[in-house]
Amino acid sequence: MAVHEVEGIFADILDRARVLDPANTRKWFDKLTVLRLDGGSLTIGCPDEPTAQFLHTNCKGSFTRAGQQVTGHLITVDFDVDGAKKPATASKQSLPGPALHPDYTFDNFVVGPSNRLAHASCVAVSQSPGNTYNPLFIYGSSGLGKTHLLHAVCFEAYGKFNGAVIQFLSCEDFVNRFISAIEAGNLPGFQSQFRTVDMLVIDDIQFLREREHSQEEFFHTFNALYNNGKQIILSGDSPPGKIPSLEERLISRFNWGLVARIDPPSYETRVAIVQKKARLRGIKISDDIAEYIARKVQANIRELEGALTTIYAVATTTGKDITLELAQTALEGQIKLAARHVSITDIIEVVTRHFDVRLTDLQSKKRSQSITMPRQICMYLARSLTKHSLEEIGGHLGGRDHTTVMHACNKITLAKDADPQMSALLDELARQITKPSQV
Ligand code: ADP
Ligand code: MG
Repeated sequence: MAVHEVEGIFADILDRARVLDPANTRKWFDKLTVLRLDGGSLTIGCPDEPTAQFLHTNCKGSFTRAGQQVTGHLITVDFDVDGAKKPATASKQSLPGPALHPDYTFDNFVVGPSNRLAHASCVAVSQSPGNTYNPLFIYGSSGLGKTHLLHAVCFEAYGKFNGAVIQFLSCEDFVNRFISAIEAGNLPGFQSQFRTVDMLVIDDIQFLREREHSQEEFFHTFNALYNNGKQIILSGDSPPGKIPSLEERLISRFNWGLVARIDPPSYETRVAIVQKKARLRGIKISDDIAEYIARKVQANIRELEGALTTIYAVATTTGKDITLELAQTALEGQIKLAARHVSITDIIEVVTRHFDVRLTDLQSKKRSQSITMPRQICMYLARSLTKHSLEEIGGHLGGRDHTTVMHACNKITLAKDADPQMSALLDELARQITKPSQV
């Protein structure tokens, strides 16, 4: 094949890739170009490094399959920055550590009452690192936008401060690099790498808990940067003082600057986020669909996006338009699917709470009615809500053999049929166990 032939059908390849991987579909696919075709290797041109990284990590498989299906040739696909589009300052985009996610910019972040302070402080810090809030500590539950904001700060600062050294990494990465440096006998190398940056951004700092040596090292890193007026930005799942086993001196330093909380988004913010994510993916949805999704999925924002992806996937694979009815059918399915991922631990948690007994009692040899019944109910629910075998269920509940579990299941089934109260109780427990998790 010749390059111009691929160019002629490139739009079809992109469409095919969208169908093959709805979760990673983006509107900006339209900006991609055909860069080269060497032998069977097709290189797709991207506007910048983060985009190329994103595609390389998430879309290589779907693009390769799309390319093969549309051209009918065994081509492979790769991604590179389109030289003609490379800005003169592009070299500073080759970041150390993990690549920035092209979606995670301030433009793509919806601001609402739940995240206004966190957003404003991130914007302020990106405009004037080291001079406003230092350190900046963002915290909140999982899936509420902490990582998104940290990426956005880095994007912004890169664009603004030519040549600034920005180190962005997860706390886990920091700890692992520290351990490797010790093993390699190169602690000075590690120290100079982290103590000389202009901005240090560490995601999920709660990972430092119970890691005494890493905490010690981080303490010195922090001091070196802080004393030189360099910006430090951290995120965590709880405020500094609530991170278990975090040294007092670190807690106090994390509180020196600004600590900003992100709360779960309100209904209005959720609607706006769904609309924004849909636009980003080039998906057209009406207001009533966005409102339906925002009402239906109240848990974290990652799940909100998941719902959108599911709807889009159902629409593209069935070739139907996205209507409210299609959205409802798609999401009902998804919620049932989510409900199926129940673990025995979930069951035990709900049952022990309801009967006010302890797990150790359920696992013990005690045979009093107040313990036997909850134990048998656990077995019955585990049998009906999980795919575990009788042996596995017995194992979780004090190493009982499979005949005991079978006997329990039969007994509870009989009780359920005979007693409406028992039937209602089992329904209620099952509802609590399978309800989608809320943040
Ligand atoms: P966290 O790091 O707090 O667990 P993330 O930053 O990974 O959460 O966010 C999860 C997903 O939700 C990401 O895809 C992110 O883009 C999206 N998200 C979170 N908050 C917002 C927001 N306010 N506007 C747009 N997208 C958001
Ligand atoms: Mg995160």
